Amino acid sequence: MILFVPTRKSKKNKILILGGIFLIIILFSTYTILQNLNWSKKSYGYFTIYFDTGDTNIVDTFSMYSSVAIKQISTYFPQTKIADFSLYLYSDRKKFNRVLQKLKRKQNYKSPQWLVGSTPNSDKIHILSPNSWEKDAPMHYPYSRDSIQMLITHEMVHLYQNQLRLNHSLTPLIKIRDPSIICFAEGLAVLIAGQYKYKKKNLLKSIARKDIEVSTFGYLWNERDRYALCGLFVGYIENKYGKEKIKELMIMTKSDDFISKINKRNDFTLYGRKTLLTYEKKLHE
Ligand SMILES: [Zn+2]
Repeated sequence: MILFVPTRKSKKNKILILGGIFLIIILFSTYTILQNLNWSKKSYGYFTIYFDTGDTNIVDTFSMYSSVAIKQISTYFPQTKIADFSLYLYSDRKKFNRVLQKLKRKQNYKSPQWLVGSTPNSDKIHILSPNSWEKDAPMHYPYSRDSIQMLITHEMVHLYQNQLRLNHSLTPLIKIRDPSIICFAEGLAVLIAGQYKYKKKNLLKSIARKDIEVSTFGYLWNERDRYALCGLFVGYIENKYGKEKIKELMIMTKSDDFISKINKRNDFTLYGRKTLLTYEKKLHE
């Protein structure tokens, strides 16, 4: 009998200790979740910016970048209306990665250092705050207002494309792995944001040298300058078929459907050569 009493007591103690640890874990995770939700926010009409207090100094400037981006898109596509959205500014890459891990459903995903923006949905733009670029994205540092404007316009084009897709109940861009569709989506964002303008001459030269078939343009997505080359490709589509065609292509999900909408004739190379000539002529004027 006497022997049983201490055993019962130690069992009780064990339960108490385990219960205590469990409670600490619960409290800690609640604290972490609340910390994560601890955003400051500022609304600007139909968009809201969420940020950490350390980024308060750039929030108003970001609202201006967003307004300019919306204007640029509605200049490119007249009568465009972008639906309400939120822009999240992440104060460091660790926080930025945490949201990308959730979106990509990959627990250990670590974004590459060049990645500073992501817009996989139709109502949120995620940006790594430029206040952290010196440490977390050194290749973008020092940055100019121009480069940040281009980044915001680029992400806004993805947002708009996701909204168009949603209206047609189609797959969001994040689920698409088809290189032609990705090349078109990224190329359009690069084109409207004007991100290839500094490289244009070299790009035109490389296009003029290659023999690129329109029906296999998806391979551009494997090239070193893939973003800029795809931007040039979308420029070719616009030049040849007009913006209405671009809008039609923005909701495509498979390269076969996409290519069936355009003429397969191999004149992308020709476009490169012609544009290069005009471009060089302009430079010499
Ligand atoms: Zn992009």
